[in-house]
Amino acid sequence: MLDSTFLKDRLVVITGGGTGLGKSMAEACAARGAHIAIAGRRKDVLESAAHDISKHGTTVTPITCDVRIPEQVQNMTDMLIGKYGRIDALINNAAGNFICPAENLSVNGWNSVVNIVLNGTFYCSSSVGKTMIKNGGGTIINIVATYAWASEPGVVHSASAKAGVLAMTRTLAAEWAKYHIRVNAIAPGAIRTEGTDKNLWGDENQRERMNRRIPMRRFGQPDDVSNSLLFLLSDYSNYITGEVITVDGGGWVGKGTYEMVDVTKD
Ligand code: NAP
Repeated sequence: MLDSTFLKDRLVVITGGGTGLGKSMAEACAARGAHIAIAGRRKDVLESAAHDISKHGTTVTPITCDVRIPEQVQNMTDMLIGKYGRIDALINNAAGNFICPAENLSVNGWNSVVNIVLNGTFYCSSSVGKTMIKNGGGTIINIVATYAWASEPGVVHSASAKAGVLAMTRTLAAEWAKYHIRVNAIAPGAIRTEGTDKNLWGDENQRERMNRRIPMRRFGQPDDVSNSLLFLLSDYSNYITGEVITVDGGGWVGKGTYEMVDVTKD
């Protein structure tokens, strides 16, 4: 449906674009003609990802930037405006997370996740958003998680921060519609990446248990998320703002009172 070059010559900035879903989204955009900027803290990771993404034939700019530090975020924006003149899309994807019961979570642990996810998303949206206002519009897409509203024991820091990002998505959508800026979110469920395979569902039994809890009975793949991203970047969604697309195989709607009875069993 989507023209294979519909992002030709646009600049898409992706925080956390050096790994996992961010890298996969960067590849999907580059494959449709977009120039890409990826931001993260590790230079070597960004450079290696930039090398891979540039195989699609567009320019890829790796930027060492910690989204928790407003000055670094502003430097990133200034550098990109200097190089390209405008930023067409910002994907706030950078995040940190770890599983910890709320009663054991330290102030540092809370702050580190909230600073990346909630504050970092605002710093980037504010800095890039102002250039979009000046340049006549743009698109912002925030990567959240279904536990922003559905809850998930063990990640009170991340769930609270993602819920804040969802509120930010809707608030900025309402404020910035008049500037032709659309602000939407994507909430992935359990998506298999190198990182999640290593840290979250390392063994086969764990994966099997997870699979049984997902009504579609499969994990998501990075392309499932990238496809929704492409839709939100395209004109097919140009009357959609302040919305969240859930990409979880029915995962959160399948969480119910009768969870003990495996209703998804054949
Ligand atoms: P990931 O591979 O761990 O990606 C996180 C990225 O964020 C890394 O590239 C990391 O790079 C970057 N980052 C972390 N702290 C940063 C900081 N302070 N400044 C700049 N960049 C920073 O995780 P993922 O699984 O692909 O997740 C991507 C997004 O999807 C996240 O927002 C996550 O919450 C969301 N999500 C994922 C899943 C899933 O199942 N995979 C499910 C729900 C939601 P550096 O460490 O080099 O900075």
